[in-house]
Amino acid sequence: MTSANLNIAIAGAGIGGLSTALALARHGMTASVFEQRSDTKEAGAGIQLGPNATGVLARFGVLDAVRAVASEPDALSIHDAQTGRILARFPLGAWIRERHGAPYLTLHRQDLHRVLSVAVEAEARISLQRGRQVTGFSNNEASVDVRFDIGANERADALIAADGLWSKLRAEVAGRYALVAAGRNAYRTVVAGRALPSNLEANDVHVWLSPGAHIVHYPVRSGAETAIIVVTDGSTSNDGWDSPASGATTQFSVLKFAALLGDLISAADDWRMWRLHMLPPQFPWVKGAVALLGDAAHPLTPFFAQGGALAIEDAAIIAAALARGGAISERLAEYETARRRRVQKVFDASLTNGRIYHLSGAAAVARNAVLACVPGTVMMRRYDWLYGWTPETASSGIARS
Ligand SMILES: Cc1cc2nc3c(=O)[nH]c(=O)nc-3n(C[C@H](O)[C@H](O)[C@H](O)COP(=O)(O)OP(=O)(O)OC[C@H]3O[C@@H](n4cnc5c(N)ncnc54)[C@H](O)[C@@H]3O)c2cc1C
Repeated sequence: MTSANLNIAIAGAGIGGLSTALALARHGMTASVFEQRSDTKEAGAGIQLGPNATGVLARFGVLDAVRAVASEPDALSIHDAQTGRILARFPLGAWIRERHGAPYLTLHRQDLHRVLSVAVEAEARISLQRGRQVTGFSNNEASVDVRFDIGANERADALIAADGLWSKLRAEVAGRYALVAAGRNAYRTVVAGRALPSNLEANDVHVWLSPGAHIVHYPVRSGAETAIIVVTDGSTSNDGWDSPASGATTQFSVLKFAALLGDLISAADDWRMWRLHMLPPQFPWVKGAVALLGDAAHPLTPFFAQGGALAIEDAAIIAAALARGGAISERLAEYETARRRRVQKVFDASLTNGRIYHLSGAAAVARNAVLACVPGTVMMRRYDWLYGWTPETASSGIARS
């Protein structure tokens, strides 16, 4: 069968599922996306997308629409959260765009979903059905039967399970691999852009480091709002993404943040919290004509801001593999092979970042000294392997993956 005749089912209309549908359609394939939720209101606050993700969005033809609702930050400013002292400022903006041929953007997760959804709905080769949960599948010799909570089974040439962190399909593909609590809690909120203290660079990503905690904030909605994420050591019992955290500001007060940061945090009154989870990605992602993608395949910690970006990268690679035609299970196995090394590297780097962020005592002093003396461009060049990724370098094997 040539790839143009393929009809691919996708479970989940999140960042990974929608990106995959677009990627398949751009290769001339047909995609049927099934989303369990019937509403279109996406949870979440901010998301950062490095050039490794925005370069792929450009190929999908949606980068201009994404840019229209995003900010392109000038730099990443790192501060000591107790003293407020700026430790380092790494270049983003034109520097990273020119280096990697695509911008570093920050935006609201809802806006990214909306842009991807609009593009999907405008594409004749994609159908998107909301309010249908994929409950299982049966692999046949040359197809897969997809089962739902409502309605009849559907037959497809392949099923891509992009059903997120709490994937139900993961167990059917891989066996029993339970998520691991990362020992961190996350709190998020969005405040008006004008709440940002005037002596902080408005168009930067700011990271504040503290023993046992860190805070990240950056512009969303083209600077009209600021997304704030606070990550602390500990493990609440909140496993959803959207539990209200009414006492959050009081809890943060024990962390004794610098006045500047304290002012910003206390400007917010609607905090949501959840417990961070991960799963080392060393389990099978493919079973016959079914493949896991995005958080379903590789739930990682957010300390490198790469979860959504990796899902977008996955989309480009799985579509390119299927477009080569031939046996579906072999193409999906190629996708898995092409992604494993890179995903593991990002997974490990994110964990390391999380540890470095929360250092205390002499280790924190040493970290701060390194940050202060290494020039920003030198530090950023160390991440060429991350931000310089493209689908071509990945498949030609010369990617610094
Ligand atoms: C604090 C924090 C900050 C983050 N910051 C960043 C960042 O800056 N940059 C970045 O790239 N990433 C970031 N991420 C990660 C990013 O949000 C996720 O990695 C990304 O959303 C994964 O996309 P996905 O499509 O795999 O899953 P999701 O976006 O979660 O989508 C899964 C979809 O599947 C649906 N679904 C589930 N089960 C079924 C089923 N059985 N049938 C049908 N539909 C189903 C769900 O309703 C959902 O719509 C962050 C995460 C956290 C926790």
